[in-house]
Amino acid sequence: MRRILVTGGGGFLGSHLCDRLVAQGHDVLCVDNFFTGSKKNIAHLLREPNFELMRHDVTFPLYVEVDEIYNLACPASPVHYQFDPVQTTKTSVHGAINMLGLAKRVKAKILQASTSEVYGDPVVHPQQEGYWGNVNPIGPRSCYDEGKRCAETLFFDYWRQHNLRIKVVRIFNTYGPRMHPNDGRVVSNFIRQALRGEDITICGDGSQTRSFCYVDDLIDGMMAMMDAKDGFTGPVNLGNDQEFSMLELAERVINLTGAGSKFTFIPLPENDPQQRQPDIALASRTLGWRPMVPLEEGLRRTIAYFKSSF
Ligand code: NAD
Ligand code: UDP
Ligand code: UDP
Repeated sequence: MRRILVTGGGGFLGSHLCDRLVAQGHDVLCVDNFFTGSKKNIAHLLREPNFELMRHDVTFPLYVEVDEIYNLACPASPVHYQFDPVQTTKTSVHGAINMLGLAKRVKAKILQASTSEVYGDPVVHPQQEGYWGNVNPIGPRSCYDEGKRCAETLFFDYWRQHNLRIKVVRIFNTYGPRMHPNDGRVVSNFIRQALRGEDITICGDGSQTRSFCYVDDLIDGMMAMMDAKDGFTGPVNLGNDQEFSMLELAERVINLTGAGSKFTFIPLPENDPQQRQPDIALASRTLGWRPMVPLEEGLRRTIAYFKSSF
C-alpha cells in the first residue's frame, strides 16, 4: 500500500487512474482545480476510505506527504488549453516545478504525463522517442506543446541535478468514457453527432490518419511505467499503433450507433498533421506492454457512456 498523489485526478485519464489505484488498495490523494475535470468523474470514489479529494491549483505550492506522484494536471484539448494560454503554460511549467519540488522534499517517485505533441508536426513517421520534434514556439498551440516540452526538461534536470526518480510517458490520442463531450476531439465529436442524428463533420477529405488508444490500455501502460525499475526514466511513447483514417472512424461510429448521419466536409484546421502514429517498440520491450482493446470494442464502450450521460 503506497500513498499516491494524482494531479488532474478529476479529469478523463486521471479519474480512471484513481479508480485503478483505489481498487489496488493504495491511499490516493486526488488534486484538481476542476478547470476541465468534473466531480462527477470521481463522485463514486468519495465513499472509499482510501480516497481523498483536494481542490487545489498546481501552479501554487503543495505540501503533502506521499510516496508517488502522477502529474496529469493540464487541460489537454485545443479548445481548453487555448482558452487561457498563459495559465496553460503556468500549469505545465510552474506545476512541474512545484510537483518536482514536492517529490524532492519527500523523496517520492514522480511520473509526468507528457504528450505526442512534443513531436509537433513530425517529419519522421512513426515517431520514436529519439526524435526531437518539429514544434512552432510562437503559435496558438505553443502554450501546450512548449509547456509540455519545458516540463520534460525540468524532469530531466531534477533527475540529473537532484537524483530524483522520474518517469516520463508521452501519451498519444486516447479515448474512452469520461472524455469531455465538448472538447472538440474527433472521437467525442463523431459520437455526439451520431447520437443526435446530426451530420458528422469531417475535416479536409478525411484521409488523414490517427491511432486511437482505449483509456484502459493507456492506464495499464502508465502504471507499468511507474512500477518499472528506477533506472528507466523514459521518455516512453504510450498509444495504439493501429492507424485509421477519419473517414474509417466516422463509418465505424455510424455502424455502431446505427445513426442515419451524413458526412459534411469542413476545412482542415491549420497545422493539422496528415498522419500520427506512435512507435511503441520501447514500451513493449521495457514494460512488456501493448494495447489490447480493438477500436471497435473501445468505441462500443465509449458510445454506451455517451448514451448514458446525455
Ligand atoms: P482532462 O482535461 O480531462 O484532465 C486534466 C485535469 O487537470 C482536469 O481535471 C483539470 O481540471 C485539471 N487541471 C488543469 N489545470 C490544473 C491546475 N492548474 N491545477 C490542478 N488541476 C488542473 O485531460 P486528460 O485527457 O485526462 O489529460 C490528462 C493528462 O494527460 C494531461 O496532462 C494531458 O496533457 C495528458 N495527455 C492526454 C492525452 C489524451 O489523449 N487524453 C494525450 C496526450 C497527453
Ligand atoms: N514545493 C512544493 N511542495 C514541497 C516542496 C516544494 O510545492 O513539498 C515547491 C516550492 O514552492 C518550490 C518548488 O516546489 O517553489 C521547487 O522546489 P525546490 O526545492 O526544487 O526549489 P526551491 O525551493 O529551492 O526553489
Ligand atoms: N477531426 C475531424 N472532425 C472533427 C474533429 C476533428 O475530422 O469534428 C479531425 C482533425 O482534423 C484531425 C483528427 O480528426 O485530423 C484528430 O483530431 P483531434 O483534435 O481529435 O486530435 P489531434 O489532431 O490532436 O490528433
